[in-house]
Amino acid sequence: MNNKTDYQIMNSVYSFSELSSIIELTNAEISAIEKRIRITPYVLEMIKNGNPQIRKQFIPFKEKNTISFKDDYLQETHYSPIDNLVHRYKNKAIYVSTNQCACYCQFCTRQRITQNHHPYNENLGQVLDYLCCHKEISDLLITGGDPLILDNARIIRILDAVSSLKQIKVIRIGTRIPITLPMRIDADLLNALGKYNNLYINIHINHISELTTESKRAIISLANTGIPLGSQTVLLAGINNNEDALRELFNELVSIKVKPYYLYQCDKVKGCEEYVASVLEGIRIINSLNNTMSGFAIPKFVVDTPELGKMVLAPCSITGISDENISLASTHGRCTYSLI
Ligand code: SF4
Repeated sequence: MNNKTDYQIMNSVYSFSELSSIIELTNAEISAIEKRIRITPYVLEMIKNGNPQIRKQFIPFKEKNTISFKDDYLQETHYSPIDNLVHRYKNKAIYVSTNQCACYCQFCTRQRITQNHHPYNENLGQVLDYLCCHKEISDLLITGGDPLILDNARIIRILDAVSSLKQIKVIRIGTRIPITLPMRIDADLLNALGKYNNLYINIHINHISELTTESKRAIISLANTGIPLGSQTVLLAGINNNEDALRELFNELVSIKVKPYYLYQCDKVKGCEEYVASVLEGIRIINSLNNTMSGFAIPKFVVDTPELGKMVLAPCSITGISDENISLASTHGRCTYSLI
């Protein structure tokens, strides 16, 4: 870690009482006081400057009388043969490398882990043993919490260990650090990450206002080490659930060497009740963008289901299928395509 990162971590806001001494909280925010917060000074500055899209992501609120979702909607615990490892798909696994993040996103699908007060049970050896016994796993997603909040020595220890397993062809890191703590992406970390040939990084970003000068510098410096970068975005009610906001974001991402990879339907997880947008709206937005933007800038719109895992919903031009033809639609019109 460097001095700027240390400063951000040491001066982060962890409690509502501290937060309310810095900014005036709304009634809706005070109603959500039971949730846990963690906000870096860097992100807090954007909130203080009046950025509603950032504020809603990191300060919880309760506006509507909504139903309450479940803690572990995706049944990750059920798919965890050991602590910190989720093995849902045959060839892929998720390693939860920490329960810490620079900031707590209030729509986090894993908030049962990031927002609880339990200490993290470090068990990398056990995870490696499991991977060795399951040679069918070739793709490992290292997530958390946020893996890049860990110190460099631990990140290197994890990556060295995982990349020494011949069966692992793809290592992916999912991170929000370039957005919430961009000063963490420094020369030492870049040197550490740059030596793994099969490492991919997916950056979690939801709105163009998250792409500040600092975060762009962090992202471009990651790209310039040669690490392929993708993005994942969560469709969030009142934050980015409109075509213009997502067009702007995806266009900007491709201009800084990031391939928009997934747009997620927000999971129906306890604590996310205020954030879930209409799934039909997501389909409509992605199909519309698909007709008006470079295909390279279009992420897949996916929904995670407890039964079948990730399902792709859009882009999709098919509106109907019969024995003779398929019906297709775009913003330019409709047609049928004969199957015979
Ligand atoms: S950074 Fe990722 S893991 Fe951490 S709170 Fe945000 S969404 Fe959840």
